[in-house]
Amino acid sequence: MIGTLDPKIPPGPLDQKWRNHQDHSRLVNPNNRRKLEIIVVGSGLAGGSAAATLGELGYRVKCFCFQDSPRRAHSIAAQGGINAAKNYQNDGDSVYRLFYDTIKGGDFRSREANVYRLAEIANNIIDQCVAQGVPFAREYSGYLANRSFGGAQVSRTFYARGQTGQQLLLGCYQALCRQVASGTVGMFPYTEMLDLVIVNGQAKGIVTRNLRSGKMERHAADAVVLASGGYGNVFYLSTNARGSNVTATYRAYKRGALFANPSFTQIHPTCIPVSGDYQSKLTLMSESLRNDGRVWVPKRKEDRFKPPSEIPEGERDYYLERKYPSYGNLAPRDISS
Ligand SMILES: Cc1cc2nc3c(=O)[nH]c(=O)nc-3n(C[C@H](O)[C@H](O)[C@H](O)COP(=O)(O)OP(=O)(O)OC[C@H]3O[C@@H](n4cnc5c(N)ncnc54)[C@H](O)[C@@H]3O)c2cc1C
Repeated sequence: MIGTLDPKIPPGPLDQKWRNHQDHSRLVNPNNRRKLEIIVVGSGLAGGSAAATLGELGYRVKCFCFQDSPRRAHSIAAQGGINAAKNYQNDGDSVYRLFYDTIKGGDFRSREANVYRLAEIANNIIDQCVAQGVPFAREYSGYLANRSFGGAQVSRTFYARGQTGQQLLLGCYQALCRQVASGTVGMFPYTEMLDLVIVNGQAKGIVTRNLRSGKMERHAADAVVLASGGYGNVFYLSTNARGSNVTATYRAYKRGALFANPSFTQIHPTCIPVSGDYQSKLTLMSESLRNDGRVWVPKRKEDRFKPPSEIPEGERDYYLERKYPSYGNLAPRDISS
């Protein structure tokens, strides 16, 4: 379907659009929140945290995922870390620089206001995760540690070894379980969204199938949040989980939702190819490896198959440092690959 896309970005100067919107949106009285029901499809980092937060605010939430547990969402695979401009390293970082680097990383095609908002609230996200018990790496002094990542000249990545996504998801899951226990969130694992119910142009419910019993059900709500993840598996090779299969998004599209920017698919240039039945997808070697060493190739073609230890320093081409002196080994991944 071809339509006119209205991104609904609020008016005003870039750095105030979403803040103004938040300041002027109508509030829902805490006593009235329990009268409103919200469906969240997906319980990865996006859906799980949305469901937990909405539940904590007092809304009645139903959260759906097709895995046996929210802990198995694809988010668990994220390795490298999460960016925020806290400037702990005093290396000149700022909300604006994080905004700019993110816009640049998106090939200047992302929506600027939304990226600005992301950069603005990134610090709060780190604080929220810490409060939820995410064991980010710390300096010996106890302060949160940062590492450098591709595409940035400052050190702003918060991480938990090579398992940042897993640790973030466990923190998110704990917050979700707290709400499930307190009765504000109903969790529906093994449940696939088959269709979206539209009433007067608004999403007001979903049709589901229980993947174990096959039973189909319908669920009505005042609002539906789709947080059903990426769709990397439209490509032959992907680091996305096999379940990242665009089913929920496609069903919303069939009901009239517009699908924007399919070109925004992240690539991981550093992968271990599938080499046996036990490996269902590409396995990522974290990009964080790049900040721990220097990337080089032999200068002479004939040396390609020589053991690296037999190639002397003078015959190594540190091509990223040569071609991109200001970024060196931390040049953005689409350039480096
Ligand atoms: C290998 C790898 C490493 C990464 N490393 C990083 C990193 O270091 N830093 C970073 O910021 N990002 C990283 N990313 C990206 C990041 O992991 C993802 O963007 C993020 O986790 C997506 O979260 P999500 O909640 O949107 O989706 P997911 O975690 O995929 O969750 C989707 C949810 O939707 C549910 N769902 C989907 N379809 C349906 C349906 N039809 N019915 C019912 N439920 C459905 C699923 O069950 C699941 O619960 C990495 C990605 C990969 C692949």
